[in-house]
Amino acid sequence: MGAIHLKLNETELSKLRLFADRCVDCGLCLKGCTMSDELRDGPKNVISRFLTEGTIDDDWAFRCSLCGYCSTVCPTGADLRSVMIALREASCKKPPLRMKKIFAGVLLFQFMATWRYMGTPPVFPKKRGKRLFFPGCAMASSDPELALKTWRALISMDPDMGIMVDCCGTPASSLGRRDIFERIRGRLEKTLTVWGVEEIIVACPNCLKALSSLPVKVTPVWGYLENTISGLQALEGKEAMFHAPCPLRDENRELAEVERLARTLFPSIRTKPYGANGGMCCGAGGMVPIVHPKTFSDWSRRISDYRKDGEIVLCCCQSCVDAMGGRDADVIHLLRAMLGGEAPPPPTSLGRWINRRKLRRAILGKQNWRGSL
Ligand code: SF4
Ligand code: SF4
Repeated sequence: MGAIHLKLNETELSKLRLFADRCVDCGLCLKGCTMSDELRDGPKNVISRFLTEGTIDDDWAFRCSLCGYCSTVCPTGADLRSVMIALREASCKKPPLRMKKIFAGVLLFQFMATWRYMGTPPVFPKKRGKRLFFPGCAMASSDPELALKTWRALISMDPDMGIMVDCCGTPASSLGRRDIFERIRGRLEKTLTVWGVEEIIVACPNCLKALSSLPVKVTPVWGYLENTISGLQALEGKEAMFHAPCPLRDENRELAEVERLARTLFPSIRTKPYGANGGMCCGAGGMVPIVHPKTFSDWSRRISDYRKDGEIVLCCCQSCVDAMGGRDADVIHLLRAMLGGEAPPPPTSLGRWINRRKLRRAILGKQNWRGSL
């Protein structure tokens, strides 16, 4: 880590100036911030110093999980999250060597995660339909059987429901590579147009956000499945806490829908146990686990302190489930709770790629993999 000189364009600079004007250094945002434990200085000081001296620690903005907690709770409307994004985008123009290596790794992942290699193109059960299920990278890598199970449940509603396993581009945009994100978005748009797809059903809150600008309808899967699941029964007697994923922080309708489903399963679930608007970040956003594994593991410990003993954590985001320990820590994906079956143990890095490969083979071969198709 070291101080670097960053050159920002006028739009990026105006975001920083606005922030420095608005921030009154109250510290409220830092109470729920993943990077707060490692900050020597409040954000106002860091940004004001940067505006006068032009230098900043090279990885300061990369400790941020882009959760948006700060911008949600700030009493003066200072938007620290957009400052972090502006700094990341500027850092990408001339990154230091360490960051260059990290960027290369993430970009390789983006490349390999596409449908040509570890994903799938649109695949339909019998004839080509207008709707596609898009499980997202995290579910494909961690719980591919759940992706298949969800697809099968969707097919019971629409026999022509297809599936496509691909990456929505969030890793690239999180690192500040807007250009690569736009390329991925353009490629997805072209694929969906060629296949005549009109609606994609997403299982990941990050995909929901990232794909919302596509010229097709983008629908979250949660409410979609509610009426088709006969086995949806209240799990009386179990204590549970609902963890709201950050991308849903300002999506009131979707958040309310997921919370309602969670309450159907666990009538006494705690839905807003901490923080503003539904809780804190799991720490996995913004590529923090890759850029700053220590920040991530310190934060994970802090998050687990919020749980009551023996309480189940229910969440609708596979990345959050993975970040908080998955099956080993009694953290359950909402779809898993709805559809039944047991989640696999958290996979290793290699295991994640193997899972993707298995899912690809199961879908392309339409095999009866683990009895789920
Ligand atoms: S909550 Fe807002 S005003 Fe307070 S320190 Fe954070 S950014 Fe500044
Ligand atoms: S977006 Fe989240 S991690 Fe980043 S500065 Fe704000 S509260 Fe901290």
